[in-house]
Amino acid sequence: MSAIRMDGKALSAKVRGQILAETEALKAQGVVPGLAVILVGDDPASQIYVRNKERACSECGFYSEKHVLPATASEQDLLDLIERLNANPKISGILCQLPLPEQIREDAVIAAIDPKKDVDAFHPVNVGKIMVGDFDFLPCTPAGVMELLDEYQIDPAGKRCVVVGRSNIVGKPMAMLLLHRHGTVTICHSRTHDLAGLCAQADILVAAVGKAGFITPEMVKPDAVVIDVGMNRNEEGKVCGDVDPAVLDKAAYMTPVPGGVGPMTITMLMRNTIKAARLQNNL
Ligand code: NDP
Repeated sequence: MSAIRMDGKALSAKVRGQILAETEALKAQGVVPGLAVILVGDDPASQIYVRNKERACSECGFYSEKHVLPATASEQDLLDLIERLNANPKISGILCQLPLPEQIREDAVIAAIDPKKDVDAFHPVNVGKIMVGDFDFLPCTPAGVMELLDEYQIDPAGKRCVVVGRSNIVGKPMAMLLLHRHGTVTICHSRTHDLAGLCAQADILVAAVGKAGFITPEMVKPDAVVIDVGMNRNEEGKVCGDVDPAVLDKAAYMTPVPGGVGPMTITMLMRNTIKAARLQNNL
């Protein structure tokens, strides 16, 4: 039997519709949510992500600005831009598309964004708030995964959850959100012994590795929930996930790539932006 496909595209459309309605209500109170997206350089994948974020802003009725700096921009150029955006009342949220060129320190840039405008939730203040469970913003990709689990009425409480990947952007916050929802969480990474054996025990398996087809059917417990965060390109240049499509025949639920976690990530960015607009206007 084939797994139920967890449709992130459909859920995104539903949530974006709700956000648009909330935006209209805020506009009636004189507040327009605004997102500034910064792109440094001309990485083709980053250009696609930025375009998708601009499109989502317009779907949600937001004001948006795109700032493109050349690949040769200095760290100070970027910090100056962030300072201006921090002070601009039209801007509720600031997103700096990663990765950055090597002359710019990612952590310096993240730390420069006003935590109240940090809609990616990467600033150490927001990371700390997530750790203690008292947060304004949730990191977009893990938040999107939690929305998908909720939509399909999958409750992590008491379940064995395995997250493969420990990045600050996906793996670590994903594990934390599952823990907040009372999952029993294991984080695996490149030094993990018997990774396949640990994955095979998971009721909920989240793959955030960045390697096409990394999770094979032998690594999946029958009837598991499999969340594929990966966004890779295969030999033909097609977008594919970290999970081998053959897992569909073993899992009970699975997110497709594309059309699973990806659209939810951008939708959660929109949710954080409207939340930022509210917080900044005490609404
Ligand atoms: P990183 O490269 O920052 O992290 C990858 C993680 O996978 C690391 O923790 C690494 O372990 C681990 N890993 C790599 N190889 C192995 C291995 N052979 N065995 C076990 N663990 C391994 O990637 P990100 O977290 O930023 O992204 C992961 C994937 O998710 C990528 O495909 C990315 O494109 C995608 N992504 C998708 C998003 C979406 O919206 N759908 C959003 C963000 C990312 P170690 O720490 O030990 O090196």
